[in-house]
Amino acid sequence: MQNTKLFSIALIALAFTHFGFARHKKNTPVVLPPPTIEQHCPPPHEELAQAQTANTISTAIAPVSLAQPIQCEDLQEGQSRLVQAKDTESPTTVHHMYKLTRTGATDYEVVLNLNFKPANGSNAEMINKEFHEKATRCYQAADRALLGPSGEHLHIRLATPNEEGLLPPVHDINVADGRFRGDSDDYNSSTFDCPTILHESLHLMGLVDEYKETKIGLVLDPKDPSGKSWVSDTKLNAWDCRAIGDNDSIMSGMEKAWSKSFGESRMTFFQVDCTCRSPKCKKAFMHPDPNLRDCPAGGQDSPVALSAETNGSFEPGIKVLGPDHFVITKDMRSFSGASLLKPAHFNSIAHPGCAENLPYYQCAASAYKTSKEHNGEGCPVTPSFCHDGTTNWTKGITTR
Ligand SMILES: [Zn+2]
Repeated sequence: MQNTKLFSIALIALAFTHFGFARHKKNTPVVLPPPTIEQHCPPPHEELAQAQTANTISTAIAPVSLAQPIQCEDLQEGQSRLVQAKDTESPTTVHHMYKLTRTGATDYEVVLNLNFKPANGSNAEMINKEFHEKATRCYQAADRALLGPSGEHLHIRLATPNEEGLLPPVHDINVADGRFRGDSDDYNSSTFDCPTILHESLHLMGLVDEYKETKIGLVLDPKDPSGKSWVSDTKLNAWDCRAIGDNDSIMSGMEKAWSKSFGESRMTFFQVDCTCRSPKCKKAFMHPDPNLRDCPAGGQDSPVALSAETNGSFEPGIKVLGPDHFVITKDMRSFSGASLLKPAHFNSIAHPGCAENLPYYQCAASAYKTSKEHNGEGCPVTPSFCHDGTTNWTKGITTR
């Protein structure tokens, strides 16, 4: 849901900022301002220019050029690189801002550098900490389903407050609650769950939306003689040039994607809070069997089913809370084996700027373009596979 009045005001501001009055005379072709709600094309971030140089750690290699996809070599194990591109330089038109490390033969790690800011300015430190923990739990919950097409594994984490070395610039995210549609720069604390947080995080890795936009459409207000005001027109939805993905893609139907990987009882973790009453019980925790699932004999347990979104840390394993006090965390969800990432998602994150992603880039580039019929600048020419209904462009399969 959106506040239309505020939305219009924002658009007027944008008309000032981005286009000036001269180009908004009445009866001239109307050009949509850049999107403001799903804000995937925000103004270039100043801090991108201040990015740390890639030689701050010895294993680093140069930031990848995203402007010109190339045949490129994969990172060597242990190597990291910054993947940064402003929206205007990005092959998907969505900014990239992450550190990529190849942590193993088939393992890749993405580090995001986020700062969550409360919209009302109060309790800034607490909100930042709360959302760091929330996002971290979501990445943990998603982890085993972040798979590449050849069994590769992507792990996502947030930079820690005092982390040093190669890092993308801090990206601010506003946090507010209430009735508004959030985006990758504005989290709605009332509605953002793990599938949504993952979806928005993937935008920071350059992925585009793949659903059909049905709400945002803009026309110049016919009631405003100055011809400067924009109003919504949901019939003429914006971004109608967009290539549409599968409805179970995390960049389209995120709830459906999550359910496909984890089933309907997707968030359930189980913790056993175990207080040992005997040496035998304590001994079982000294060299614990990795498959330990219950409080050993001689211990008193209080099991609790928990949601990954609201409670505690959900790294499966054993946590020592005191000399006699242990918590065993179990991930009770069944994993279907279905990756939360389509092959092209994984490849464009783990092999950014590479020619293998060209089909994805070609289709993704129209995600935030609007046809002339819908008051936009017109759709770019795209290969037929972007719109042939097969969604092969997200699967890394294209037939020309
Ligand atoms: Zn989105």
